[in-house]
Amino acid sequence: MTAHSDTHIVGWEDHPFYQNCLNLIEAAGEQIDLDPNVFQRLSKPRRVLYVSIPVRMDDGTIEVFDGFRVQHNTTLGPAKGGIRYHPEVNLAETTALSMLMTFKNALVKLPLGGAKGGIRCDPSVMSRREKQSLTRRYTSEIFMLIGPDRDIPAPDVGTDAQTMAWVMDTYSAQVGYAVPGVVTGKPIEIGGSLGRVDATGRGVVYTIIEAAKRLNMDLDGNTTVAVQGFGNVGYYSAKIINSLGCKVVAITDVSGGIYKSDGINIQAAKDWLDKNRTFDGFPECDKISNAELLELKVDILIPAALSNQITKANADKVKCRILAEGANGPTTIEANQILNEKGVFTIPDILANSGGVIVSYFEWVQGQQSFFWSEKDVNNKLWEIISNAFGRVYDFHQAKKIDMRLSAFAVSIEHLSKAMLYRGFFP
Ligand code: NAD
Repeated sequence: MTAHSDTHIVGWEDHPFYQNCLNLIEAAGEQIDLDPNVFQRLSKPRRVLYVSIPVRMDDGTIEVFDGFRVQHNTTLGPAKGGIRYHPEVNLAETTALSMLMTFKNALVKLPLGGAKGGIRCDPSVMSRREKQSLTRRYTSEIFMLIGPDRDIPAPDVGTDAQTMAWVMDTYSAQVGYAVPGVVTGKPIEIGGSLGRVDATGRGVVYTIIEAAKRLNMDLDGNTTVAVQGFGNVGYYSAKIINSLGCKVVAITDVSGGIYKSDGINIQAAKDWLDKNRTFDGFPECDKISNAELLELKVDILIPAALSNQITKANADKVKCRILAEGANGPTTIEANQILNEKGVFTIPDILANSGGVIVSYFEWVQGQQSFFWSEKDVNNKLWEIISNAFGRVYDFHQAKKIDMRLSAFAVSIEHLSKAMLYRGFFP
């Protein structure tokens, strides 16, 4: 028997992603004269729960997985944030991601706090039964934290609508009645919202439309786009921007990807990937690596995979005009600085990918009211909220002459800090 290292369960303070978030709060705070007591409170998560999750695997052995749920802030309402299944999940990253959720929700003025959860596992090598056992046991372990008025999970990397259905069912079984409001991103049949599945990608594209207007850029057949990651966010971002007429010239996933200078047929690429699980052999395209994709000369670059993809090592080689961050934390602080100096216009993650949580909020509202909206209503309301938030961030960026990322944090923290000061704290 081998003892395993548990470094992924240790504290978050020294983790670079968490430090990045703290530095951003501090720098944004200076722009709005943030009360130092509010800064102290924002610099730590409100609640952290570690759980060990035993699962009987298909071969009869029992494997114990590490899981987390972190609630960073609940001032504006119930905590809200995704659940990630990935081999690299750790407490520090989950905590940093919960913080980003707080600021994302506050930025678009949702009545929600910030949370994140995750399990350190590799769902790509697990059977459906193993994943279901994992999800149900995890749900029962975090049961005391979640609920439609407390904390509402959603899908993230490695989880999907089916995962949310299992969470909802496990929670509902424990309380004795159906509780659709405990999760968002559910299948439509059990209370999901129309428009949720493509909401994050749609939101990414809506923010690109707003940016292009300000930069006097046309979005048409001459506009080139590269997308890193071809999961939920990457695929729908590519599909929707393509529907505006733009040319998606490169896409990649974990195993690399494809390039075609006159534009890839997105639906054909998706069908191919679903069938073959890799882009290898996709006709009429050249092969491209993830690193090469990020360095392409394109008008719009959409990183939609994992964090820390654009770092000081490659930022200088990034050649896009607009960087729309579909993923959470794809650009490090040092890289952000380099991109600013190069004149890249960044739409920061908490703004660019907020479409997912905005429509999650709609789903939660619809579930609480048992009254469901049309897809057109969902998309129109998404447009209203996200373009309004874009405008507030852009105006701040223009007025203060600071970059879009810092502006987004400042606008968000200004709203949240007022709420925190009104509420005070107990006792
Ligand atoms: P997903 O699991 O559906 O897709 C992830 C994609 O990234 C896959 O195509 C995968 O192959 C690719 N990938 C994984 N590791 C990679 C690597 N090392 N290099 C390149 N590609 C890699 O996940 P998703 O839901 O699309 O989430 C993607 C990102 O968007 C994450 O950062 C997530 O936190 C963020 N996000 C998701 C949502 C949402 O609604 N799904 C909302 C906001 C933010």
